[in-house]
Amino acid sequence: MKKAMVTGAGGFIAHHLIKRLHQEGYWVRGADIKKPEFGKTAADEFSVLDLRGFENCKKALALDGTFDEVYHLAADMGGMGFIHSMACDIMRNSALMNIHMINAVAQAKIKRYFFSSSVCIYRDMKIGEPEMSEEQAYPALPDNEYGWEKLYAERIALAYGKQHEFKVRIARFQNCYGPEGTWHGGREKAPAAICRKVAEVQDGGTIEVWGDGSAVRSYTYVDDMVDGIYRLMQSDLEGPANIGNPEYVSVNQLVEIVARVAGKKINIKHIKGPVGVQSRNFSNEKIYKTGWRARFNTEAGIRKTYPWIEQQVKKSRHA
Ligand code: NAD
Repeated sequence: MKKAMVTGAGGFIAHHLIKRLHQEGYWVRGADIKKPEFGKTAADEFSVLDLRGFENCKKALALDGTFDEVYHLAADMGGMGFIHSMACDIMRNSALMNIHMINAVAQAKIKRYFFSSSVCIYRDMKIGEPEMSEEQAYPALPDNEYGWEKLYAERIALAYGKQHEFKVRIARFQNCYGPEGTWHGGREKAPAAICRKVAEVQDGGTIEVWGDGSAVRSYTYVDDMVDGIYRLMQSDLEGPANIGNPEYVSVNQLVEIVARVAGKKINIKHIKGPVGVQSRNFSNEKIYKTGWRARFNTEAGIRKTYPWIEQQVKKSRHA
C-alpha cells in the first residue's frame, strides 16, 4: 500500500485530493493548522501542525519507514481581495512552509514531491492573446506578490529535487472551485463569491461585482483539478505544468451562468474593487500528455457547486 502525506488537508483542494488518494488505495496522513471546515477528512491520520516551523514539517513526515509521496498544498491564500490586502502574510507564511517542507522532504529521503503553484506566476495578458506555455513564465512579471512567492517556491522545489535527487512535480492551477470550498469570510474566490451573492438575493435582485466584469478567466472544477494532480504526480513530466479548464469566460458571463443555474434573473452593479489581471490564457498541452482532460465545463461545475453554496447560505441564516 502506497503512503502519502498531504499538507493543506484542512483546506479545499487537498480535502478532495485525499478522497481520491483513498479511492486509489493509498494510506494517507493529512497535515494542516486546522481540521476541514466542511465534512470529515478521508485521511487515515490527521496531524494538526503549524507547518511554518521546520520541526513541525519533520513531525508531519515522521513515520516508521518513509512516505512514498508528499503533496504540498498548504498555503496562506485567498481570492483577489485577500491577495491584494495581505501580501506580507502571504509571502512570509507560505515561504516559510515551502522552504521548511522541501528541506524536511529531502532529509526524510522522500522520492516524490508535489507542489501546488498557480497561474498567478504569469504576467497580465490581453483578452485573446495566444495561449502561453509553461516556459513563457520567464522573463517573469507576476501581477501580485502571491505569484512571486509561488515562483520562488517552484524554484526552491526544483533546486532541492535536483541536488537531492528526488522527483518534483509542479502544477500551476487555474482558478479552482467546487463544493466544500471557502464561500464567505474574505478568502473566497470569484465562483464561490458569485454563487453566494446570487443565493443571497431574490429573483430579479442585484448583486455587486468588482470591476467592469470583462476580466477573463478559466474556472476548473475541483474533481478535474484533483485528477490532474494525481496524473501529474504519477507521470514522468518534468518541470511545471498548467492545469485548467480550456473554456474562457468573463466575470459577467460567470454571473449569467450562475443565474441560469439558480433559475433567477440577476442584475449586476459594477463597483470598484481588486480585479487582478485582465486575462489568463494558458496552454494545457503539457498536462494533456498524461491523458488528462477537463470533464466539467463551467456550467456543469457550477451545477454541482451552486446547490451546496445555496445550502450553506440557508444554514447560516438559520444559525
Ligand atoms: P485553502 O486555503 O482551502 O487550503 C490551504 C490550507 O493551507 C488551509 O487549510 C490552511 O489552513 C492551510 N495552512 C495555511 N497556513 C498553514 C500553516 N501555517 N500550517 C499548516 N497549514 C496551513 O486553499 P486551496 O484552494 O485548497 O489551495 C490549495 C493550494 O492550491 C494552495 O497552495 C494554493 O495556493 C493553490 N492554488 C489554489 C487555487 C484555487 O483556485 N483554489 C488556484 C491556484 C493555486
